[in-house]
Amino acid sequence: MRQRDQINEDDRMHGVEEINAERRMHGAAENKVPDDRMKIKKRDWILALAILAAAGCLMLGMRLTHRQKGNTVEIRVDGALYSAYPLAQDQRYTIETAYGTNVIEVSDGAVFVTEADCSGHDCIRQGKISRCNETIVCLPHKLVVEITQRGGQQAQETEFDTVAK
Ligand SMILES: [Zn+2]
Repeated sequence: MRQRDQINEDDRMHGVEEINAERRMHGAAENKVPDDRMKIKKRDWILALAILAAAGCLMLGMRLTHRQKGNTVEIRVDGALYSAYPLAQDQRYTIETAYGTNVIEVSDGAVFVTEADCSGHDCIRQGKISRCNETIVCLPHKLVVEITQRGGQQAQETEFDTVAK
């Protein structure tokens, strides 16, 4: 009686265990593949994002260092190069064109418009620029003052030539 009970119980236990094991196996088998795939996907995404973030930081860093450099003040009138001055040389330049007159001053590695006979004097109010690719625009005079890096920047020169012509 006792033995049979025990056997029955054993059987039941066994049976339950087997079912559980089977369920586990089954569940695992069913879940494992998508779960792993999800994990791999997730890991790939994280990796891709990390690479993108790193690339972004690198580009930003390069741009920032690039922006901080500049050795030339380029004056463009109506999109064409009017003149180029060294940024290192402190001097005043008077730009007289058919549109009007602007006086530009280079001082301590910065450029600014000190005088202009345009309406509004927006160019004067734009203040100083000292970094590469920064610009001062005088819309009424179609004048653009830009700091550029000259020498060893062929891409920029080519691009500039296309714009100038
Ligand atoms: Zn102006």
